[in-house]
Amino acid sequence: MFKEKINIVWFKRDLRLVDQEPLYYAQQANLPTLLIYLFEPSVMAYADSDVRHWRFVYESIKELNEKLKAYHTQIHIFQEEAGVVFEKLVSFYTIDTVYSYEETGNQLTYARDEAMAVFFKKNNIKWLEQQQNGVFRGLKSKKDWSERWENKMRSDSKTADLNLLPFTKLPIEWYEQHKGANLTENITKHNPNFQQGGEHWAWRYLQNFIEERYINYSKHISSPLLSRKSCSRLSPYISYGNISMRMVYQYTMLNYDRSKNKRALANFVSRLHWHCHFIQKFESNCNIEFQNINGAYDALVKPKNDVFILAWQTGKTGVPIVDACMRCLVETGYLNFRMRAMVVSFFCFNLWQDWRELHFLARQFLDYEPGIHYPQLQMQSGTTVHNTIRIYNAVKNSEAYDYDGLFIKKWLPELRNIPAQFIHEPHKLSLIEQQLYQCELGKDYPYPIVDIEATRKEASDIVWSFRKPQHSNN
Ligand SMILES: Cc1cc2nc3c(=O)[nH]c(=O)nc-3n(C[C@H](O)[C@H](O)[C@H](O)COP(=O)(O)OP(=O)(O)OC[C@H]3O[C@@H](n4cnc5c(N)ncnc54)[C@H](O)[C@@H]3O)c2cc1C
Repeated sequence: MFKEKINIVWFKRDLRLVDQEPLYYAQQANLPTLLIYLFEPSVMAYADSDVRHWRFVYESIKELNEKLKAYHTQIHIFQEEAGVVFEKLVSFYTIDTVYSYEETGNQLTYARDEAMAVFFKKNNIKWLEQQQNGVFRGLKSKKDWSERWENKMRSDSKTADLNLLPFTKLPIEWYEQHKGANLTENITKHNPNFQQGGEHWAWRYLQNFIEERYINYSKHISSPLLSRKSCSRLSPYISYGNISMRMVYQYTMLNYDRSKNKRALANFVSRLHWHCHFIQKFESNCNIEFQNINGAYDALVKPKNDVFILAWQTGKTGVPIVDACMRCLVETGYLNFRMRAMVVSFFCFNLWQDWRELHFLARQFLDYEPGIHYPQLQMQSGTTVHNTIRIYNAVKNSEAYDYDGLFIKKWLPELRNIPAQFIHEPHKLSLIEQQLYQCELGKDYPYPIVDIEATRKEASDIVWSFRKPQHSNN
């Protein structure tokens, strides 16, 4: 059987057309090029995965496919394991080169990429992986990392001229036979509580942040309510590659000189830097997904308490700011940085639970990025070597960043009648006040499941006693 010689662009966490290096290099090669995305059942069933992530991916591809109609092509979606799809494609085509980005993923996608590298080699297929944002694979020393990051961000973008790319499409019958099951409706139907995936939305969020919303970036960054507008909200778009970090950086710098609040933009750029800095850590030590960075903590066993875990997940701990954050996160997929750190701190210190029980959190974050998630969990749970151990006081954070209790009231309607001065600690209400504010404690809203001050003190004593840097796993 004659087999057409083609190249493949394998889309992963890079769902865009602008500054998309695999497409750019595929264009240079000038062979018929097939575009694919794989919804892999094993990856979708992994503990960190949620339907919200796949919906965002689907929306991103749907938008790209609308644009690609003009070029008479599409990104072919498969719901199938990578090994199976490429096996089928190899029996149908002669594949010269597969273009993709490097992926700094979880253990499963790492193992998949290793297996695919073997498969491609065996089948004489070249696999050209491009560097993802400012993360350097095989980095020997972190010494000049910041300089390399800057250089990468300032380098020329690489956008393919789609008019010059000779696309190919799978024959309809073949595709129908091999593409796997259709995606379920909870993936293909938009949920308006969540940010919508797509390159168009990534640029819209960036533009209106840089034009307007950035003004209060630093001022409101820790407020659970106000940060939803004043922060960029670019995280899911960067995590799924709807926009490249280089484009975010360059667009920001283009507007820097004439901006009215340069400090806010400088703070924002430092976060872009952090994004890659954390992923670089994970890229260099992926054991962080499972092992304490500081091996001294291996001896610290925290008994699993399912009642505590469920109360925390469902926003019923009796600590309003924690509960509001958790209910908001489950509903919308977003929390600002401080509140993320605070709910992790509450889980690991006050509830005394192990950070490895936090896959639930990975599933809730729409912007879930393994390379940020795991290093952050370890930092916030105090299991690193050098970072100071920070145990957030939930009540103080509530008073400082949700002073009027507006965020709490939005997410805990049972507390809506309670005045601001009591909202942070409703368990201190007298019986008469409970009647007056129509909130019976223990019935309408729980008493705190732990004593915040006592558990904080206990946790602090124990975790500090384990700080022995010579036991580092890093
Ligand atoms: C426990 C925990 C888990 C986290 N998990 C993730 C995750 O899975 N994915 C994720 O993108 N961020 C994660 N973060 C970092 C941070 O909370 C989010 O990036 C940020 O809140 C996203 O909002 P934004 O896009 O409006 O950020 P902005 O403040 O506008 O920042 C711009 C971009 O910089 C990056 N960024 C901002 N803060 C950080 C940070 N502290 N560390 C690394 N990068 C940062 C993000 O890409 C963000 O989109 C986590 C933080 C904690 C404490």
